[in-house]
Amino acid sequence: MAKTAIVTGSARGIGKAIAVKLAKMGYNIAVVDACPIEGSQETADEIKKEYGVETKAYRCDVSSSESVKETVADVAATFGSIDALVNNAGITRDGFLVRMKEEDFDAVIAVNLKGTYNFFREVVPVMSKQKYGRIVSISSIVGLEGNACQVNYSASKAGVIGITKSAAREYAGKNITCNAIAPGFVQTPMTDVLPEKVKEQMLAGIPLKRYGQVEDIANAVGFLVSDDASYITGQVLSVDGGMHM
Ligand code: NAD
Repeated sequence: MAKTAIVTGSARGIGKAIAVKLAKMGYNIAVVDACPIEGSQETADEIKKEYGVETKAYRCDVSSSESVKETVADVAATFGSIDALVNNAGITRDGFLVRMKEEDFDAVIAVNLKGTYNFFREVVPVMSKQKYGRIVSISSIVGLEGNACQVNYSASKAGVIGITKSAAREYAGKNITCNAIAPGFVQTPMTDVLPEKVKEQMLAGIPLKRYGQVEDIANAVGFLVSDDASYITGQVLSVDGGMHM
């Protein structure tokens, strides 16, 4: 039976590239995103047509435990198993610590951290029954190093690493591996909005002298869900051109 993967935030950007990579590997894909359903449906249709796997689009806000519960139940019923979960959905609401609005702090924690927890909580019981699972969560270099104007984002991404390591210890006995990826600077709609000057400064700090592409992150996810990575759990893999060493 074909394996099934849930990829959150996969209507566009890094998430879409991850969904494409896993489809190429033969996974059926649950395309989960909070955007209007047309966005996820387009990605799901594109992947199904190109790679011949089964896909289904879901409109789901990862920060809503109810919405996540319904989505995961539907994925399990539709596809029969959940073999891989990729927690990729994320947002930024940058600003200086003292000027950051409380709602901007809360929103980033709700999506990036609570959203990751919500999916872990619903998917782990399914994987535990299967005695098989691969969970990869997208953290950030900022979760390892911190960054000015991103106390909310860096806290959420450091938290994702905490969830990953704790769950890795809890569920290793169920043959579930839990790892995180810490991307550096990847060219996506999230980073396209940054001023040119900031982008140039970023580039100067990348030893491999190029911005990351969405496929760089997707390839690392592909490895971590593969059998080749069956002895790797609780790790944070930096995919950043050497920014963090
Ligand atoms: P993006 O903004 O291009 O895509 C994010 C996707 O997540 C969008 O489709 C969006 O609709 C969806 N999303 C947002 N809130 C959601 C919610 N509440 N529920 C469900 N879906 C939601 O961003 P990206 O650059 O592709 O980033 C993907 C992930 O990688 C994020 O977790 C981000 O923090 C992380 N990351 C990105 C970079 C980078 O340089 N782009 C670097 C490090 C980490």
